[in-house]
Amino acid sequence: MALASMSPMDRIMAVCHHEIPDRVPFLLTSREFGLRYAGVKHSKAYEDPEIYIGAQLKLLKDFQLDGVWDIWCTPAVDEALGATMEIPDDDPPWITRPCVHGPADLEKLKPVNPWRDGRMPYLLDVIARLKKAVGPDVPVIAWASPPFRTACMIRGNTELYMDIYDNPQFVKNLLEFTTETCTAYGKALVEAGADIIATSNPVANMDCISLDHFKEFAHPYSKRMFAALKDAGAKAINFHTCGRWDDRYELCVENADIIHCDRVDLGEFKAKYSNKVVTMGNVKSVATLLQGTSEQVAAEALQCMAAAPGGRYIFSSDCAVPRDPPPANVRAMANVREEVGAYPV
Ligand SMILES: [Zn+2]
Repeated sequence: MALASMSPMDRIMAVCHHEIPDRVPFLLTSREFGLRYAGVKHSKAYEDPEIYIGAQLKLLKDFQLDGVWDIWCTPAVDEALGATMEIPDDDPPWITRPCVHGPADLEKLKPVNPWRDGRMPYLLDVIARLKKAVGPDVPVIAWASPPFRTACMIRGNTELYMDIYDNPQFVKNLLEFTTETCTAYGKALVEAGADIIATSNPVANMDCISLDHFKEFAHPYSKRMFAALKDAGAKAINFHTCGRWDDRYELCVENADIIHCDRVDLGEFKAKYSNKVVTMGNVKSVATLLQGTSEQVAAEALQCMAAAPGGRYIFSSDCAVPRDPPPANVRAMANVREEVGAYPV
């Protein structure tokens, strides 16, 4: 086992820059698990920033992670645009009611100000405090909704999928609007202190829209947004391909620095795309981390680590870690990372 000599920030940046750092970086998308592990309910994260920050700092220390996450996947932009967001007592918030019921409603939408509107200032404050707490050596990773996802949230998924057939121009007008809005929020995340922008688009995977529709309605808008965020100072874009994305990875790797992989063979994925992106993943969050034993977690973690030789790999789970895995299972991942240490040759 090699002694750690680099900071988490240098480690992550090294893999992004085609260098081999001192050890394999370890990241977990950890809003849900982090809060439970700290013994606090989800809703408290939206009441007192220090509660959420405390939970992230505890994870960072206890599992030797290489980054902290904002209150990720909170649909604050969608809410500020007028959609209804519900915050359950001890589960993540979600959009319960869209606000765009047709083209006429699009005309009424006003651009939002991330520093003033809805819950966005609260989330930005959490990021600023997190950055202050961890300092320059640890990356703060913050989530930005891509334009297609926000369009689905404020219009309704089914309605938007039907609009693609019935009124494609309306969908494009809506996407122009959400691109501007999502980009403005993403820039504010960077300004607040986020080092890496994490994003995910589960409503645009292979089970939701065709490749042709992805090319026309989702990809170009994300591409524009991610490029603007890099220009604004984001050190990397981490794109989580939630669900099945096999027929569209070629496009996703064009505009991300890290692909946080869900259901892929890491070795094959890396062999194909490591010249373009860093591969991150993919111990199964539900089947293994939540429902398996720590021995099963360790075995699967070691299989993932088989993708590590040569660098360009970040060790992680395949999706957000759910609220309730036994801490011993997350510990098993941390132990494997510790045992592997430096990148295997
Ligand atoms: Zn996922």
